[in-house]
Amino acid sequence: MKADPTNPETNPYEMACRQLERSAELIGLDSELVDYLKVPDRVLTVKVPVRMDDGRIRVFVGYRSQHCGVRGPYKGGIRYHPNVTMEEVIALSMWMTWKCALVDIPFGGGKGGVRVNPKELSNSELERLTRRFTTAIMPIISENRDIPAPDIYTDSQTMAWMMDTYSVYKGYTVPGIVTGKPVELGGSLGRESATGRGVAIITRESAKAIGSTIKDASIAIQGYGNVGYWAAKTLSEMGARIVAVSDSRGGVINWDGLDVDALARYKRETGSVVDFPGSEPISNENLLKLKVDVLIPAAIGGVIHGDNMKKIRARMIVEAANGPITPEAEEHLNRKCELVVPDILANSGGVIVSYFEWVQDLERYFWDLDRVNRELERVLVKAFRDMIVTRQEFGRILWRDAAMVIALRRVIESLRLRGLWP
Ligand code: GLU
Repeated sequence: MKADPTNPETNPYEMACRQLERSAELIGLDSELVDYLKVPDRVLTVKVPVRMDDGRIRVFVGYRSQHCGVRGPYKGGIRYHPNVTMEEVIALSMWMTWKCALVDIPFGGGKGGVRVNPKELSNSELERLTRRFTTAIMPIISENRDIPAPDIYTDSQTMAWMMDTYSVYKGYTVPGIVTGKPVELGGSLGRESATGRGVAIITRESAKAIGSTIKDASIAIQGYGNVGYWAAKTLSEMGARIVAVSDSRGGVINWDGLDVDALARYKRETGSVVDFPGSEPISNENLLKLKVDVLIPAAIGGVIHGDNMKKIRARMIVEAANGPITPEAEEHLNRKCELVVPDILANSGGVIVSYFEWVQDLERYFWDLDRVNRELERVLVKAFRDMIVTRQEFGRILWRDAAMVIALRRVIESLRLRGLWP
């Protein structure tokens, strides 16, 4: 199913609004407040002209959406992807508001993106694109106002360029302007692995919650980028069996379990997991339909939808990507699976350690890895328990709705205390 902007099933902004309406109804929220939260505080559209290596100029379009700053500075990633649209960026910034509130860190939701296929650009073209985009959004970012981070097809090098560009303009180094930086430049230990590690911690807690264990659980992961890899690595350290993984070119399966590090090395060398020795091929679509204990969609949005939802056979689904399940499919799977953990909880490890990174940058005092991982564990386990308790309060609602209710209550309380002015 292709993303269709007029279809509420696949338009991410419509999806986000529908989720908001559903949880607002559960707590009897005024429609005025729902309307308030549907609209982002601010969205900036920018032109990003880039001189290509051959001397020609190509013009890209970028966005930064700041959804709701009532709990603190806006926070969220920047993605480089050919399908980036303003609506998608707004939806993603709304999800960041809920994500930060759910895990109770003092940020509001932000998100940015450039509509570009980064695989077509050389490294120096990417650097120029990043620096120009940073310059274009400078009027609305600062370390106390809006703090970008990596997202799809951006990484610690992208953040290093952003931090450098911003700092050169300011005339002094401002490490806290972005998170997900290289450790050498004020990044946090454990940030690179944080999102995947968080996915693993949440998967372990989910297994416990359904009276099972992560030990020897069979797990299929769609996506073997940063999040997919670190989730696979941490889960296999916990004793789980990673039976199938995929990337944009295809997938591999071995029911005895894949060697996740050998696979990562193979992908680095060949550019893909496809044809990994000792495995059988499997398509991205068929990976989703495997009868496994846990399915982890860790690639892009909208991959589980009305057309394939009936074929999903996993006991549990943990949403590592942002928005991998459409609302229709989510309702179906919440009836069928034992647990479906929403993205705003499952992938929040990244922004949680981003918060730790920002705190370390502001204090110029850095933590050891053990402390980072310990505090990540504490925040995540608490948020998971909050979700389970809140769901019990309402009966058999969607797990997403339980998570959303927690987030919404916190955001609404901050709004109420601050008031509307002028
Ligand atoms: N892009 C990540 C997310 O969607 C991380 C955001 C951040 O660290 O600010 O949660």
